[in-house]
Formats: sequence, C-alpha cells, structure tokens
Amino acid sequence: MTQTEEKLEAQDTPQVPIDKIVSLCKRRGFVYPNSEIYGGVAGFYDFGPLGVELRNNIRRYWWWSMVQLHDNVVGIEGATITHPRVWEASGHVENFTDTLVDCKKCKRRFRVDHLPAENLASNSCPVCGGELTEPRKFNLLMETYLGVVEGDKMKTYLRGEACQNIYLDYDNVLKSSRMQIPFGICQIGKAYRNEVTPGNFLFRQREFEQWDLQFFVHPSEMDKWFDYWKEYRFNWYKGIVNHKDRLRFHEHGKDELAHYAKKAFDIEYQTILGWQEWEGIHWRQDWDLTRHSEYSGQDLAYTDPNTKERYVPWIVETSGGVDRTFLFLLLDAYEEETDPKGDTRVVLHLHPWLAPVKCAVFPLQKNKEELVNKSKEIHRMLQRYMVCQYDDVANIGRRYRRQDEIGTPYCVTIDFQTLDDQTVTVRNRDTMEQVRVPISELTMYLLERITWK
Ligand code: ATP
Repeated sequence: MTQTEEKLEAQDTPQVPIDKIVSLCKRRGFVYPNSEIYGGVAGFYDFGPLGVELRNNIRRYWWWSMVQLHDNVVGIEGATITHPRVWEASGHVENFTDTLVDCKKCKRRFRVDHLPAENLASNSCPVCGGELTEPRKFNLLMETYLGVVEGDKMKTYLRGEACQNIYLDYDNVLKSSRMQIPFGICQIGKAYRNEVTPGNFLFRQREFEQWDLQFFVHPSEMDKWFDYWKEYRFNWYKGIVNHKDRLRFHEHGKDELAHYAKKAFDIEYQTILGWQEWEGIHWRQDWDLTRHSEYSGQDLAYTDPNTKERYVPWIVETSGGVDRTFLFLLLDAYEEETDPKGDTRVVLHLHPWLAPVKCAVFPLQKNKEELVNKSKEIHRMLQRYMVCQYDDVANIGRRYRRQDEIGTPYCVTIDFQTLDDQTVTVRNRDTMEQVRVPISELTMYLLERITWK
C-alpha cells in the first residue's frame, strides 16, 4: 500500500510575494535570468525545462480555444522584423514613447504615468521623497539595421507589438482562405520594447510574447462583436484561475482612450502588485487598415460578396501576454499548506490542462526489481500521450512533495498489489486522495482529466 499522507490545512496566503515565485522558478527550472553568467541583462529571461512545457501548454490552450473552436478565425505567424514604414504608419515611430523621471537622490527611475498623483504634484520621489528630474521622452521601439554594407544599411525596428503583421497579412489571408467578414486572424509572437522600467520578473520585460486576435467586422456589427469577445476572453481567464474574485474589468476612461476608440476594457488580475492589466479588449475601428492603405498605397477595403458594398472593415482587438499569463498563473496557483505537525508542502494548483508535467510514476521501493520494471513499463506507456516523469529517488512522501511543487496533477504508484491485480494507486495533487485504477484503464483515466474540453 502507498503511504498515506496527513491532511494538510491550507494557510491563508492572500497574495504571494513575487520573490517566492522567482526562487521557485529558478530552483525547479521554470525560468532563469538571461545571460546570468555575465551578470544578466534587465528585462530578458530564459525558460527552462518546466517553463517551456508550461509556456507551450498556455499557448496551445489559447490557440485551441481561439482558432480551433471558431470557424471564423484563422491563424498566422509573422516575422518579427517588417518594413520600417509599417512603424510610421502605425504611429509607433512618432508616438510610442514613455515619459520618465529620475530621482536625483536615490537615482530610481519612474514612468510618469505610473507616479502617484501626490508625487506628480510635489515633484517628489515616491520612495525617498527626493527631488525628481525634468520629464524626458523615450521611444520604446528597438532599432536594428538590415544589409551588409555600412552606409547602405536600412534602419528598421524589431516589432513593438505583434499585431501589425495581422494587418499586413489581412488581404493575403482574405484572398487565400475562404474567410468572409466577420472573421478574425490570430497570432502568437514575440514583441520587443525598450521599456524604461523593466521589472517585477516577467511582468514587464523588453522581449516578451503577445497573443492577439484582430476580428474584422462591418461597422454596424462592431458593438455586437466587441461584447462577444470581451465576455469570451474574460471567461477564458476565469476558467484557468483558482481565485476568480481576483479578476475584473477596467474600463478605460475618456482620457485613456485612443482617439479612434469608442471603448476599451482591460481584463485585470489582482496580485501583490495591485490590480494589473492582463489583456486589453480594444475598439480599433478602421484606424489600422486605413493607415496602412495610406502609407502603402494599397487599397485594403473589402467588398461584400453578397451586397457588393465596399468598406474598410472595423476591428475588435483582444491583446494579451503569454509571459504575463505565465506569471499570473503561478501567482494564482502557489500555495503553502502546513499540517498539524508543522510540515509544509508547497503546491502549485495549476489547472491540469496547463501543468507542465501531467503525471509522475513511482515504484514504491527502488530496490525491488519487479516494481521498478513494472513502473518503467507504465511510464513508457503513458509518455506517448502526456509529459510524464519517472522518479524512484527518496521516500514516496518526498517524491509527492517534489511533484506538488511543480504542479503535477497526478502521481501513479506501483506497489506489490499491482503485481497481483494489475491496479495502481493514483494520487490527486489537490485533494491528496488516492484511488486504485486498473492499468488497462489508466491512460484514459488520466487523459480525461488533463485534456482540455
Ligand atoms: P503597459 O501600459 O503596461 O505598458 P500596454 O497597454 O502598452 O501595457 P499592450 O500594448 O496593450 O500593453 O500589450 C498587450 C499585452 O501585452 C498586455 O496586456 C500585456 O499582457 C503584454 N505586455 C505588454 N507589455 C509587456 C511587457 N513589457 N512585458 C511583458 N508583457 C507585456
């Protein structure tokens, strides 16, 4: 029989400090600081063996629900460098700036739009009270140069937002697929910004990944589709977090709205940093296609095949971040539970759909050859269908803890009873309950619980 565990009481951990997540991520191979052996570089991170699995699952789940489940949505993957005129047309060359101030005393740097009102008014540092410098503007676009001959090189930019490729490919998609308006184009891809205040781990980086849907509609249907995607995206996030009360909409006030937007909502999540944007739902009207028509000289208007009406489609945009999702999901999932003896288990209550490792297989004892052989056989059977780890190091309790800490939803233990009746013990990460499942049903038992539906 598998060793039973003491029931653990969940501690009240209202908000998890970011440091705990940073240290777990490094210790267990989710995220490493980029170029660490050279002292690191602010705003860049690398993803380790578990991080890459979690990221892939997050991306795939988004793609599944946005593209695969919608008959009127298709996907693309664009290059991260485009013609430089794109960034003039989009307004980024001129307007993609942050205004910042430095504290003359403690040398900290702040974005003016992030300063509390009282510090703005008194021109004082929110940390030490020191005097602030004059505001200075910085363009966030990262420059790069194409070509080999000095002097003939063309200056262009790493894309400051991924969605521009969608406008650039809109006409090609229309002509090469069977889409008709209303329809959408999705993309997941890297974006680069010379953020003046990178920080809070993955929250604000200089290289990060965005997911975008640009949904093209007839102007008369804009309200309807805006509401549809706004609700759809909110429910999507609600479906993958434990703390549903930490999600809310923030509606942009008149002063926050772009000039072409009638409305915009952020989906926000509450962490130790306060309420923060997770994704934006934007009313983009015909701004992007009109600008690209003007700058490229190509007519990007649409002709309705039935009514023959010709118009520039309006756009509903939903734009969020893979890295921010990664961070918020870890903050949402992290819990420390302590049993009556004072032993603590760290557990990630990640949704089983997203957990990096789906299942771990343990022989009850490492020195019993029959148990080890049977366990390896079961491991080989399962790993064809899911990410599955084999572990025979230390006692069962320790092995459970190792898996809890990385969010593995199921652990399978092979014991002496297995050799008699071909059943195994499956232990649930969240409830710690154990059930016996026949080996012949094990794959389906797990797949039913880890496959999104
Ligand atoms: P902010 O005002 O915080 O700088 P933004 O409004 O400019 O953000 P968008 O351009 O709308 O952000 O980007 C869409 C999404 O991309 C954001 O909701 C966020 O999830 C993600 N994102 C934006 N900037 C960063 C960054 N520097 N690091 C990580 N993710 C980011």
